[in-house]
Parts: sequence; structure tokens; C-alpha cells
Amino acid sequence: MKYKARLRSRISNLKDQKNPDLRRNVLCGNISAQRIACMSAEEMASAELKQIREALTKESIREHQLSKVGGTETDMFVCSKCHGKNCTYTQVQTRSADEPMTTFVLCNGCGNRWKFC
Ligand SMILES: [Zn+2]
Repeated sequence: MKYKARLRSRISNLKDQKNPDLRRNVLCGNISAQRIACMSAEEMASAELKQIREALTKESIREHQLSKVGGTETDMFVCSKCHGKNCTYTQVQTRSADEPMTTFVLCNGCGNRWKFC
């Protein structure tokens, strides 16, 4: 468990957009994989790939659920494409429970979808 937690933090370090140097250093071999987490670059890459794949699967499940739910009709939103007000919105808890809901809006006029935060 300890190792797993450490691995997860290393991966998030590597994916950190604010820290591109660490990623570059690892990719160029300036920082050895052993020094990062006692694992090979291949393992690191496959772990990251697995995470991305899982995220994509979750995303597509969410999309599927959204299209099934239908949502609530409203004239609160104006479509940026056709400027119509005939919209349907769905509120989804995308991240953790203590974060605000994300509102997904669907324009019934042209089918445009957007996110309203
Ligand atoms: Zn529209």
C-alpha cells in the first residue's frame, strides 16, 4: 500500500503541468527512474497509460449517462452557436462530493453542447 501511494504521487508529479522540467528530466534520463520511484521507465509509462485509459473509460460512461438522463428544459442559457434559448441542462457531480456541480447544457435547436461552471 505504501509503495502504491508513493507511485501515485510520483505519477502526479510527472503529470504536473507546472513542473515540466521534472518530466523532461525523467524522459531525457537526467533523473533516473530508480531515483524517482525505484521502477523502470516502461513500468512508469504503462502505469500512466493505465490511468489515462481508466479516465477515458470513466469519461465515456459519464457521457453515456448524460445522454440517457435527458435533463431539465430551461431558457436560462443562450446557445453560442444559434443564439436559441431552448436548452436542456443536466447537473453532474464530476469530481469529489465537496466540489460544486458542473452544469452541462444542450441546445435543443442545433444540438450544441457546452459546460457551464
Ligand atoms: Zn444552438
